Amino acid sequence: MDHSSNFVVSVEERPSLPVNGQPDRYPVRRIYCIGRNYVAHVREMGGDEKLDFPIVFQKPTDSIEQDGAVLDYPTMTSNYHYELELVVAMKSGGYNIPVEKALDHVYGYGIGLDMTRRSVDGQSDRPNQPWELGKAFDRSCPVGKIYPVGQVGHVDTGAIRLSVDGTVRQDADLSMMIWKTPEIIANLSRYFSLEAGDIILTGTPSGVGAVTSGQHIVGTIERLGELSVTIGKAAA
Ligand code: MN
Repeated sequence: MDHSSNFVVSVEERPSLPVNGQPDRYPVRRIYCIGRNYVAHVREMGGDEKLDFPIVFQKPTDSIEQDGAVLDYPTMTSNYHYELELVVAMKSGGYNIPVEKALDHVYGYGIGLDMTRRSVDGQSDRPNQPWELGKAFDRSCPVGKIYPVGQVGHVDTGAIRLSVDGTVRQDADLSMMIWKTPEIIANLSRYFSLEAGDIILTGTPSGVGAVTSGQHIVGTIERLGELSVTIGKAAA
């Protein structure tokens, strides 16, 4: 397909992320997210600890925000939460990737925030509703620099920590993930053809909580640097 002709309306170009140690950027195609992937977080949310398959949802590609962003406080909630997560960035994929081949398709790793409307105004009882309103809203996916596998190896252990205004709120280790990265990739690829540019947020540890305008969030994962955002004024 030739898309070089002019478009009838103007749109933003595809979001991308900086890559550690080199000028070229990582283009983002799709954002997959895994839910309930640390036992202590499943418990704090009151969920089922023994699912046959991880919870999967997507965020829109243009919900990506860069490190250092000021995030508008979202509309339609007064319970806006952070969730710090390991990000897996794919370089290739396809359907039905075997677990033992899954890591061959990983370009690198990073830090992401699955920003969440924990409650949505006007919807008090949502257990059987899709997750879009709570998860897939504008600016809900800040992601830091991508670190290529060639620099950091495959990141599956190490401290994952988040602080709000200097106070540690999430403090865990990646080794506590219920579904490991190869299993996540293999499972997702049974349903979706994974492609270069797809990123996967792999779930958050316990300690999630609300933030308000003016607060400053810093997330770190060992070997993957730091991601920081500030909560701004109400979106308008
Ligand atoms: Mn999450």
